[in-house]
Amino acid sequence: MRVSVPHMGNMYIPIKTLFRELNVDMVIPPLSSRRTMSLATKYSPEGLCIPFKLTLGNFIEAAELGADTLLTAGGYGICRLGNYAQTQEQILRDLGYNVEIIQLGVSDHKFRGFMDIVKRVSHNAPWRKIIPAFRFGIAKLDALDELEKEVHKVRPRELTKGSANRIYHRAVKAIDEADGYRSVKRVRRDYLEQLHRVPQDREVRPLLVSVVGEFYVVLDPFSNLDVENELGKLGVEVRRALYISDWTKFNLFFGVIKKFQKDEKTRFHEAAMPYLKCDVGGEGWETVGEKVVYSKNYDGMIHLAPFTCMPEIVAQNIMPTTKENIPVLTIFCDEQMGKPGMLTRLEAFVDLLKRRRQKFNN
Ligand code: SF4
Repeated sequence: MRVSVPHMGNMYIPIKTLFRELNVDMVIPPLSSRRTMSLATKYSPEGLCIPFKLTLGNFIEAAELGADTLLTAGGYGICRLGNYAQTQEQILRDLGYNVEIIQLGVSDHKFRGFMDIVKRVSHNAPWRKIIPAFRFGIAKLDALDELEKEVHKVRPRELTKGSANRIYHRAVKAIDEADGYRSVKRVRRDYLEQLHRVPQDREVRPLLVSVVGEFYVVLDPFSNLDVENELGKLGVEVRRALYISDWTKFNLFFGVIKKFQKDEKTRFHEAAMPYLKCDVGGEGWETVGEKVVYSKNYDGMIHLAPFTCMPEIVAQNIMPTTKENIPVLTIFCDEQMGKPGMLTRLEAFVDLLKRRRQKFNN
């Protein structure tokens, strides 16, 4: 059995750590690239969303490296996420790869279901090995997210553009290579210090923009053309509620610890209530709620949505009707999206936000 996972941001690092600690034969596909995208679009039904296509592209590249057991997020729900695994497995089999796709349910079973899968693919490893391996993976996940949050703060303030990114990329590599719990802690501390020491304009008050939308395109820079980095270069501080560590803990691992998840989601659902009273699948309900909540303390919002994603299309159509007002730029992500077009739209949006802030300050 050779196990693999598709990419979603830096998620592959903790997953790889967990399974390698348990001596599972694991192969990580190459990071998503033009080749991944071209395989993805060649073999996917045209109307499907970008998360389906890109994860299929990752699976094909993993299968080329000999993977036969593919793990992916799944579950039932209002959108088509629940049908991904069967459709992708069929496509891979039609291409001649003898693979099995195992879904890590995000709708039910959560922690228990995930642990059962870990047990299975690790050939029944004892819990005394699984628990520390799991903690080690979580430590890496937390470190990655903390560094990412910090880099969002430094980018718009740094005096030499690109300094924070260089440190961040080295930090991701160091976390990936860290071979123990203590070395993760050390790497996390060292690189946070390096980010703090980046020469910055400490007086500047950058525009604050929240990035919301469907979780895959929010969390995966390849699929959104690294929109957060581009905003940072334009002098914008990016904030978001969704991080891989939170999403993973509360959707896969710690479904048993419902309290925080409930509080955070309930806050957005309650805020959305006057405009949308029920779940529409994916993150559509939360997107509307986030607009209402963030209208008080943000300059603007970037709404990322996969092209043809029904939940986010619903949210996009409702957002202009809320009385809580904040400029929103919706970006539909798909294989047709080009960087120059996206940058032009971002620049125009940032200009608008600057003028709006000046107007309110006068
Ligand atoms: S929420 Fe949208 S993009 Fe995500 S799986 Fe469902 S339809 Fe696809």
